[in-house]
Amino acid sequence: MTKYIFITGGVVSSLGKGIVAASLGRLFVSRGFKVSTQKFDPYINVDPGTMSPYQHGEVFVCDDGAETDLDLGHYERFLDKNLSRINNVTSGSVYQTVIEKERRGEYLGATVQMIPHITEEIKSRIRNAQAKDNPDILIVEIGGTVGDIEGLPFIEAIRQFKIEQGISNSMSLHVTLLPYLNTSGELKTKPTQHSVNVLRSYGIQPEMLVLRTQVPVDKNEKDKIALFCSVNKDCVIECKDMKSIYEVPLYLENQGICDRVCEILNIEKRKPDLSSWTELVERIHNPEKEINIAIAGKYTSLNDAYLSVVESLHHAGFKTNTKINIKWIASDDVKNQNQAGKLLENVHGVIVPGGFGQRGVEGKLEIVRYARENNIPYLGLCLGMQCAVIEFARNVAGLKDANSEEFDKDTEFKVVHLMENQKNIKNLGATMRIGAFPCKLNKLSKSYSVYKTEDISERHRHRYEFNNEYKDILAKKGLLIAGTSPDGELVEIIENPKNNWFVAAQFHPEFKSRPDNPHPLFLGFVEAAIDMSKSK
Ligand code: GLN
Repeated sequence: MTKYIFITGGVVSSLGKGIVAASLGRLFVSRGFKVSTQKFDPYINVDPGTMSPYQHGEVFVCDDGAETDLDLGHYERFLDKNLSRINNVTSGSVYQTVIEKERRGEYLGATVQMIPHITEEIKSRIRNAQAKDNPDILIVEIGGTVGDIEGLPFIEAIRQFKIEQGISNSMSLHVTLLPYLNTSGELKTKPTQHSVNVLRSYGIQPEMLVLRTQVPVDKNEKDKIALFCSVNKDCVIECKDMKSIYEVPLYLENQGICDRVCEILNIEKRKPDLSSWTELVERIHNPEKEINIAIAGKYTSLNDAYLSVVESLHHAGFKTNTKINIKWIASDDVKNQNQAGKLLENVHGVIVPGGFGQRGVEGKLEIVRYARENNIPYLGLCLGMQCAVIEFARNVAGLKDANSEEFDKDTEFKVVHLMENQKNIKNLGATMRIGAFPCKLNKLSKSYSVYKTEDISERHRHRYEFNNEYKDILAKKGLLIAGTSPDGELVEIIENPKNNWFVAAQFHPEFKSRPDNPHPLFLGFVEAAIDMSKSK
C-alpha cells in the first residue's frame, strides 16, 4: 500500500523544497523502497513550456515530451528514475481538464466549482501518479508558499486526500525559513510559527518541519518551534545551506529523518545503503584539479535558466575529481573575435546551450568561431549545434550570411530551417519536436567513442532542424555528421574532427545526466577540457 508525503513551503518561495523532496526520496530508495514523486505548480500556465526562463528557470523535458518544472530534474537525478507528464501538475492543466469536461456535459448540469470539481481533479492526478507504478512512497510537493491564493485548491485537495487515506498513511512535511538577523546575531522563529498557523487554518497540521537556515539551529530553538507548532521535538529537522545540493540527503539522514517518517507512516524501518552516495560526496569535497568552463547564453543573469547544464558539468567533474568553475558569458556583449578571445582567456571549454530567438545569436557565433579556430573544446546543445552549423557554413564553407530561418527568413543559405511538417503550426505551446527520439551514431565519431554504443535515445525540444540540402556541401568542407535519426533524415549530432573536441547535438543531453553517472557527452567534453588545462 502506498504511503504519501505532502511537502509544503512556508515564509518564502525558493527554499529548496524540491531538493528536500528529492533527498528524502533518495533516502528511501537507498533503503530499497520504491519511490515516486510529483510536483504541483499552482500557476495557471498549462505547462512551463511557454514561460520565460527568467520567470521560471529551465524547462525540464521528460522522455514522453512533458515540459515540466525544473524540480523534476532534481527528482530524476536524486532518485535515478525517469518521470513523465503525470509527475507534474499545474493549475492550468487541472482547470483545462475540468473545463473540457464541463463543455462535454460530463458534469450533468451541476454547477462546476472549486470544491468539489477542481479538488477532485487534483486528487485524481495524485491517484494517477500512484497507479502508474504503485510506489511504496509517493512524495508530492506543492509549489509556492502556504497562503498563496492560487495554491489553496491544492492544499484543500491534500487535506481531503489525507483524511480519505486514513491516519498513518499520509503525512505533511512543511519546509520553512528561519531568517538570521546579522545585527542581533539571532535566528527568528516567528515567521515559521505564523506559516504553520496558516497551514493549520486550512485544516492541515504538519507532522514534520524542515528548517531552512544559514546557520545551525540549537536544540532550544528547535524545542521552542516544536512546542509552538505542535510538532514532536524529534520531527523538527534542520537543513542548513550546503556547499553542494548532493550533501543534503546525508545531512538529513544524520538527523534520523527517515526513521521519523517511518514511525509516522507506520513503515518498517530499514538500514540504508548510502555507500555510493557517501563516496560521491567525498569526491565532491576533494577535487584534485580545477578547470574553467564558459557558458555563453542569453539568460545568464539567472543561473537556474541552465540548471541541468550546470549540474551535468558538475557530474562530469565529480567523476574526474575536478572542480568546475563556470564563467557566464552574456552573448549579447560579444561583438567580435577580439572580445571573444578576451572572454575566453583562461577558459578550457565552451558551451553554447539551448535558446530561442535572435537576441545574442551573433555573439554566440563569435564565441563558436573562436573556440573552433583555437581548438578550445566545444559542446553545443540544441541552439548550440545550430550555431555551430551556421558558423561553419559562414566561415569555413564560405556561405555568406548563412543563418537559421528562425533568425533570418531572407537569407540565401538557410542551413537550419523549419521542416515542412512544422510550417502550419500556429500555437506556441507543446508544438515542438519534443521528448525522446532515437539516434544512430557514426562509428567514426567522437560521440560513438564516448557513448560506446551505436543506438542512443535523447531528449529534444526545438522547432528548427539542420537543412539536409547542405549536408554534402558542409561535409566536403570537413563537418562530420556524427549522428542522425535511424532513417538518416534528421541530423542529430555534428562534429569537427579537426579539433580535439568539437561536438554539438540537436538534443539536450543535460536532461539525462546523473550525479553518479555523468552523461557521456559531458564527460568527453570535460576530459578534453582537462587536457586543455594541462597544456594551457
Ligand atoms: N530555437 C531553436 C529551435 O527552436 C533551438 C531550441 C533550443 O535550443 N532548445 O530549433
